[in-house]
Amino acid sequence: RNERRGQHVVLLASPGAGHLLPVAELARRIVEHDGFTATIVTHTNFSSAEHSSTFSSLPPSISIAALPEVSVDDLPADARVETRILTVVRRALPHLRDLLRSLLDSPAGVAVFLSDLLSPRALAVAAELGIPRYVFCTSNLMCLTSFLHNPVLDRTTTCEFRDLPGPVLLPGCVPLHGSDLVDPVQDRANPVYRLVIEMGLDYLRADGFLVNTFDAMEHDTAVAFKELSDKGVYPPAYAVGPFVRSPSGKAANDACIRWLDDQPDGSVLYVCLGSGGTLSTEQTAEVAAGLEASGQRFLWVVRYPSDKDKTASYFSVSGDGDGEDSPTNYLPEGFLERTKGTGLAVPMWAPQVEILNHRAVGGFVSHCGWNSTLEAVAAGVPMVAWPLYAEQRMNAVMLSSSRAGLALRPSNAREDGVVTRDEVAAVAKELITGEKGAAARRKARELREAAAKATRAPGGPSRQAFEAVVGGAWKKAAAAARGGR
Ligand code: UDP
Repeated sequence: RNERRGQHVVLLASPGAGHLLPVAELARRIVEHDGFTATIVTHTNFSSAEHSSTFSSLPPSISIAALPEVSVDDLPADARVETRILTVVRRALPHLRDLLRSLLDSPAGVAVFLSDLLSPRALAVAAELGIPRYVFCTSNLMCLTSFLHNPVLDRTTTCEFRDLPGPVLLPGCVPLHGSDLVDPVQDRANPVYRLVIEMGLDYLRADGFLVNTFDAMEHDTAVAFKELSDKGVYPPAYAVGPFVRSPSGKAANDACIRWLDDQPDGSVLYVCLGSGGTLSTEQTAEVAAGLEASGQRFLWVVRYPSDKDKTASYFSVSGDGDGEDSPTNYLPEGFLERTKGTGLAVPMWAPQVEILNHRAVGGFVSHCGWNSTLEAVAAGVPMVAWPLYAEQRMNAVMLSSSRAGLALRPSNAREDGVVTRDEVAAVAKELITGEKGAAARRKARELREAAAKATRAPGGPSRQAFEAVVGGAWKKAAAAARGGR
């Protein structure tokens, strides 16, 4: 008799440290559910030092299995990072199949297989082995909807998506412009285009989606998605978020937090463009001049300008900036001296969750990465949307729509895309002191309450959804696995 046999979930993380962290977080939550154990499957390609620090903090009921490295040396030197990732995922599938087979034969068994957003290709392997399979969507429901809709756009249009004459109308979503869709689908001739279109079809093999969002954040999208899944068009989606890190007391001695301690309530604009976001030297200078002219207090996480940074890489967030060459060296002459007292520029990295939850912070200039967005929401902080890559343009449209009302957007980017100092100053001032900023702050606080209720209150919708999947469908799958399939 082995009660635990089959209470085992296998989670596949796509290559790259950024993909491992949210999967590890989900695994942690799954094993908090009585009796579940988990294995996180990682790739040897693109693994980094951060992998080991993530692993060292995991509970013993979570194991790690690394798939052997696969060669992608044949890809052209200019292949996009997404092409590299998706190619690794595809080429590692035989190794994944071997691993799942041996786990199925082991005492633990496999009740459920889960891939993250970039590895839906692996669902076919789980299907072939008769394992129930889910996708963990680390972005929002609109992003998932858009990936699912890409094959339709591909079939029904011929021009580049950015040249589509009309808006892209995703079910239950704010209208998008074709150019707001993710970068890899913006060039039909690039090999990554086909890979990403096919992801939209691969998702259909899932038994369901766990999405890091919550009903109050994307209510209309959730309703439309449910209608479609009730009709069997899409697998069901479960809004189980927001999964965000809680602020930790450990940062209390951090220089940023100590600086914030001396600032008035709600006065500081926090500027940070995610783990990989960079600006050109020219744009950096405009942001600097704009912040200075706005007269607002600011805490700015400064990275090397995109045109100067030799270390910039999607996979690396390291580089402590403490060496002789610091990103702050690329700020305009005299800027740091002139803004001393009202502003703080931090090289490379800052404790974002602790900063957002500090009473002194009144606004957040963000690239609209989904984790950053949820962290802002959980802290009740309104945003200025400054999207850069991935699905951030879509997120920015959603967040600044009247529906969400959470973010302001700088207006009138120049022809060349540069946002001028005057616009930076105006939007910074408006967010911290203006009417529109106050309205966005009210929305942010409403969403903060809704997020807390969704995940914490008994019967909260995200809690219920998580319970329905893990405690419901997965328990049944586990029982079936115990009985032997
Ligand atoms: N982050 C941080 N300090 C920084 C920059 C980023 O702690 O200086 C964290 C941030 O809190 C978030 C993550 O890195 O959890 C960034 O994820 P997001 O999805 O927002 O954007 P990405 O970096 O993936 O584009």
